[in-house]
Amino acid sequence: MSQPDIPFPQSPVLPTMLAETHEIEFSCHKGIGCWNACCSNIDISLTPYDVLRIKTRLGISSTEFLKDYTVPYEFDKDSIAGIKFRPVEGGTACRFMKPEGCDIYSDRPTACRYYPVALLSMRKQDEYVDRDSYALVKEDHCKGHEVNRRITIADYRKEQGLEEYDELARGWRQLVLKKKSSGPTIGKPSLRSRQLFFMACYDIDRFREFVSAESFTKLFDLPQAEKEALMADDVALLQFAFRFLRQVLFGEESIALNAEAAQERLAKVQEKRLIEERGAKGYGVELEEAGVLAAIAKDINVIQGNLEQGLAGFDDQTFNHVVLSRTLQTVRHTERILSEMLRVGREAVVSFPNFAYWKNRLAVMGGRMPVSEDLPYEWFDTPNLRFFTLLDFESLCAKMNLVIRERQVLDEAGRLVTEEPNFLGSLAVYRLGR
Ligand code: SF4
Ligand code: SF4
Repeated sequence: MSQPDIPFPQSPVLPTMLAETHEIEFSCHKGIGCWNACCSNIDISLTPYDVLRIKTRLGISSTEFLKDYTVPYEFDKDSIAGIKFRPVEGGTACRFMKPEGCDIYSDRPTACRYYPVALLSMRKQDEYVDRDSYALVKEDHCKGHEVNRRITIADYRKEQGLEEYDELARGWRQLVLKKKSSGPTIGKPSLRSRQLFFMACYDIDRFREFVSAESFTKLFDLPQAEKEALMADDVALLQFAFRFLRQVLFGEESIALNAEAAQERLAKVQEKRLIEERGAKGYGVELEEAGVLAAIAKDINVIQGNLEQGLAGFDDQTFNHVVLSRTLQTVRHTERILSEMLRVGREAVVSFPNFAYWKNRLAVMGGRMPVSEDLPYEWFDTPNLRFFTLLDFESLCAKMNLVIRERQVLDEAGRLVTEEPNFLGSLAVYRLGR
């Protein structure tokens, strides 16, 4: 079992787990002797839904709210972050405490609503299902326990508006619990993942910008109508943020990736697996400065060099696989590059568009150069220098004594083509050896 998620870690939580049906004796009302005592010395963690409610109430952005009203903390060492209320300057009292009571009462955070009940969320390892139970916090200064009013925890939660608050923070709580309970199977999230978690959970206005940015659209295949609905609704956007984080942190894919991004991701997963399983390492070769910088930004090992001049920087048989993805048709020295790939690697993996694909044939018969998913350029801006087919490539392999160990042919939708590949295939992938 993971540690309970106790909202009052420093408080004297009575060590009895209570069910919702348990009756507590408690009432808090203006005029009670301890009025505002609990708000004078605060340690209040905030949920993402708390942030959303309060920043809306204050009429400021989530970024401003985080900067001015909160401090971050870590749930565990080196793990994902939570946020707490920042007390008044140089003191311990809540900034919203006024003599007449809470200044944001109808939007007060979850922890304030629960008090003096503590929510204990627990889960088994690697499960998303969390089980809620409760405990009672009894502090000497709180006279509410002396008032003769009995109420079940279920009714107290209703009275305090907690059903809505818990429901809208459930996705966040599940992420936190999953991270806490997953331990070494998931491992420590990268700095980038932790930054994404913080932004998506707490800084909803920045997350909105992130989702509307072109880079997000390039990566994720989100229907326009769904995107517009998210942009207009903070609560829906927050629920989407939890979905997004499940994908980023735990690989649970619920938001479709664009085809190119999916392919890149698959290559990264395969590279990572190779690194983990065999201690293998991957490198990219890139000519352009901008491409080198982009690869570094994506954490990809990259060497700046010109493929046309071979792979002189690498020794013979350094790698298990050398991959040339959709590039062979753009290079001048085709034979030299294939030879070099099989000099530095035990196997070469090559993919290229098939110019004999039926739609390409049709375009040429209609008098135009083909433009398709796998041939996305117009004749005047294409980087392609060579126009060849599966049959052409296989005849070159025979001439060079290259062994075709595997061939996979795909149509424009990425489906495997097994019959008439030279006619029905748009993209070909070959695994070659000597
Ligand atoms: S938000 Fe309101 S209820 Fe909560 S600690 Fe501050 S003043 Fe008290
Ligand atoms: S009764 Fe408890 S919750 Fe109410 S004001 Fe006093 S200390 Fe705070």
